[in-house]
Amino acid sequence: MTDINTLESWDRENFFHPSTHLAGFARGDVPNRVVTGGKGVYIDDMNGNTLLDAFAGLYCVNVGYGQQKVIDAISKQANELAYYHAYVGHGTEASITLSKMILDRAPAHMSKVYFGLSGSDANETNVKLVWYYNNVLGRPQKKKIISRWRGYHGSGLVTGSLTGLHLFHKQFDLPLSQVVHTEAPYYYGRQDDNMSEEEFSAHCANELEKLIEVEGADTIAAFIGEPALGTGGLIPPPKGYWEAIQKVLNKYDILLIADEVVTGFGRLGTMFGSEHYGLKPDIITIAKGLTSAYAPLSGSIVADKVWKVLEQGTDEFGAFGHGWTYSAHPIGAAAGVANLELVDELNLVANAGETGAYFKQALIEAVGSHKNVGQVRGEGLLVAVEFVEDKASRKRFDNVGALGGKLAAALLARGVISRAMPQGDILGFAPPLCISKEECDKVVSALHSAIEEILG
Ligand code: PLP
Repeated sequence: MTDINTLESWDRENFFHPSTHLAGFARGDVPNRVVTGGKGVYIDDMNGNTLLDAFAGLYCVNVGYGQQKVIDAISKQANELAYYHAYVGHGTEASITLSKMILDRAPAHMSKVYFGLSGSDANETNVKLVWYYNNVLGRPQKKKIISRWRGYHGSGLVTGSLTGLHLFHKQFDLPLSQVVHTEAPYYYGRQDDNMSEEEFSAHCANELEKLIEVEGADTIAAFIGEPALGTGGLIPPPKGYWEAIQKVLNKYDILLIADEVVTGFGRLGTMFGSEHYGLKPDIITIAKGLTSAYAPLSGSIVADKVWKVLEQGTDEFGAFGHGWTYSAHPIGAAAGVANLELVDELNLVANAGETGAYFKQALIEAVGSHKNVGQVRGEGLLVAVEFVEDKASRKRFDNVGALGGKLAAALLARGVISRAMPQGDILGFAPPLCISKEECDKVVSALHSAIEEILG
């Protein structure tokens, strides 16, 4: 194997890393890590470190690292048929079986699944589906998509626009004009101290309705949201939020896209977040947990109501002009089949619920009363600790984000990978769904000691 020093210099000279401070990386200010292996919840790097990955890569390695069943399925598929396309009615046993397995697990009113490669391209597909839908229905002006501030839906042109984080817009000429943003369902960050959670949800629904009226309901095609906010801070919705939002969407005939890239396939302790919070989406975005990231694969699950219009469209306008070379890639599909079987065999959905509740409670007990821990929140194995300067007023630290970064580094020094979430001093935890209570205890004690070191 190439030695570490050579790899480090090749890395800095040649590799354009995503979501990285480019100049800092090239200069050597940003450390690099060459990851060499993984087993269960642990990864190994080339410097001989073994780290407990409490963020499952990018909350995607749900079944954990090194699962032989998924590895064997990929290898078998590569041996038999590494590639064939899915255009004009072609498929493989794996892609056809996986479609059925997804629909068997999805809410009953969902009808078909289109396969892509990433969460971003799946949401890009979803926007096109929605536009096509309204064109077929003879409503060519009904095209805008509403997303929330703090939402994350990808980093393409439309999907980067949907993402409600300024970093993904700044200097990229985004958001595009077809995308408008509404209030984040971030109760802890509310301005008005006197609002109850239910009142805050009503306020969010009210803000949404005002936006629809300003833009004109006949221009708004769809609303996109993660059932629980992910990258925007790991924030479960306030009580009554989805009920209030869906009432408004139904009133104005606006489609709902549930972006379940993070929440799909068990992370919240239920198969889908839609089921968890009572959403009735028209389209569901899936990726990450579909294959536990053993191979790139995403999907758009389309409800019967939308599917019927798509069928009508092709009868009127000809074949559906949308597809990727790698749609339903056999290796991704084989990984997906084995992965979803393994999720069932290992009872990982229930484990996410049970171990997630244990983990959150252990965090509350260990660090919840610290003067700078504003909130420990989460659902299933999607858990966050938010830090503030003053607990009573929920006042944030100046230079927001710096503390989150320092704490993540202190945790790393203790052998635990967490994620400092953007737009706050928020440490995020989303470990593989196979994590045990003992492994959760290790994360909790590392956090306790990191907080002691940095904040006293
Ligand atoms: N949607 C959500 C909710 C996500 O969290 C992500 C990625 O983190 C995406 C979409 C984009 O997925 P990808 O990075 O695979 O393009």
